[in-house]
Amino acid sequence: MRKFGSLQFALLVGFVLVVIIISTLSYYTIRNIVGDQSRQQLQATSTVFSLIEEELMKPMHVAQALARAGIFEPYMEAEPERIRAFLRDMQERFGLIFFIASEARQTQYYSNGEEMALNEEDTPWYFRLKARQADFFAGLGNQDDLRLYMDIIQRDENGNLQGFVGIGLELSEFVQTFSHYNENLGYDFVFVNSANEIVLTSFAELQPRGDNYRTQLQDLAWYRDWYKGPSLAGNQTNLVELDEEQALITEIPLEVLQWRLFIISPLEAQRQAMSRTFLVNVLLMGTVLVVVLWFLSLVIRRIQQNVSSKIYTDRLTGLYNRLYIEKVFDDMLEEGTAMSLIMADIDHFKAVNDNHGHNVGDQVIARIAHVLGECLRKGDYLGRWGGEEFIILLPGSDLQSAAQVAERMRRSVAFQPITKGDLSLDVTMSFGVTHAEQYGALVDLIHSADKALYEAKHGGRNQVVSRAFSQD
Ligand code: GH3
Ligand code: MG
Ligand code: MG
Repeated sequence: MRKFGSLQFALLVGFVLVVIIISTLSYYTIRNIVGDQSRQQLQATSTVFSLIEEELMKPMHVAQALARAGIFEPYMEAEPERIRAFLRDMQERFGLIFFIASEARQTQYYSNGEEMALNEEDTPWYFRLKARQADFFAGLGNQDDLRLYMDIIQRDENGNLQGFVGIGLELSEFVQTFSHYNENLGYDFVFVNSANEIVLTSFAELQPRGDNYRTQLQDLAWYRDWYKGPSLAGNQTNLVELDEEQALITEIPLEVLQWRLFIISPLEAQRQAMSRTFLVNVLLMGTVLVVVLWFLSLVIRRIQQNVSSKIYTDRLTGLYNRLYIEKVFDDMLEEGTAMSLIMADIDHFKAVNDNHGHNVGDQVIARIAHVLGECLRKGDYLGRWGGEEFIILLPGSDLQSAAQVAERMRRSVAFQPITKGDLSLDVTMSFGVTHAEQYGALVDLIHSADKALYEAKHGGRNQVVSRAFSQD
């Protein structure tokens, strides 16, 4: 019962360990995946954010702040030379291309030296904005001019139009950086103006030609799925189906431009990274499980060994018991090994018991077992057959060498008195030896050896008698 209990206990501990390990690793897998995903998301959006902030927003803010502070005002109707000098100075200071489109001079002056007469053909925007009298406008240049313009109206104290000032931002660098994100992370972007028209996008087919904004945000296939109603935060991120793939689309309002930016990130790239994390964790889990199972099997084998060693061992002497000897014999029989067998019996053992008590008798049996064991050769099996009788299997051994082993044992026992305190006992043993090249049941061989042993007893004990195996 106890042995079975310890096996059960080991299995239970193993099971609990496996459950704990799987749960722990699952927890860390999920944690890592969530962490990875958030990190990627943050990394990607934060680089896009800072790109937009640096390349677009900051210059726009600068231009707007300068215009509102009245920096351009003294130059709106000034001499061309003063205007040019002022603009050059501004470009040097801020590293941006400024312009003044002067109503009085009917000319648009750029800080890089370019100049243009204001007329319907070359500067249609001017007349459009003038007609509209809008305070502020942001838009792209024409098809060959990938620049973002911000135009801010300038009026004198009576409210009369003096012209427009602003900046022209080179966008090629921005577009290039973004196409780098597009290649590496599959990101796309769509800029939409306040009229919901697409003004700038990484989707080539949607990119407007000049001022001809054909596509509306509402025309995009994903927009209806994406839009989940007004959001408190002013922006939102939603998951939509895009070209049979799932994509995360984030809206970023660009207040200063009165534009909105949509960043489209396909989940596939992130999924791949997640699958990598998952795979690594599964491998780790697998390895740990294999180690635990290996450890468990080791424990079970150890317990098995322990149990079987107890099943096959004689308690008093520590020798093999009858069961094990029978098992060894069956194995040898199967292999067809020639076999010698010795039966050994302590002489006049009853007298030992009678004179000194059963306990001393037991100790004598144990001591004799030890002495016999020392005479064994490798490959021989010594067992306690019962009482004060011992059995020795000598596989592959002929009758003569088996008899020599028996003789060595006889002498060892006879010449070593067994001492216990003051007590010293001279013990002798008789041996019956038999040998068979071919044999059947163990009892037949034992019967043959017993005959020899009987002869030894009758011959005066303390002797070895050998006898070839015969079935009679
Ligand atoms: P013989 O020389 O003819 O063998 O004489 P013997 O007295 O040894 O006779 P036998 O072998 O028939 O007697 C065996 C005795 O050994 C009987 C029993 O009291 C005793 N005995 C058997 N098993 C044990 C045991 O485990 N412990 C002890 N102390 N005595 C045992
Ligand atoms: Mg006996
Ligand atoms: Mg005896």
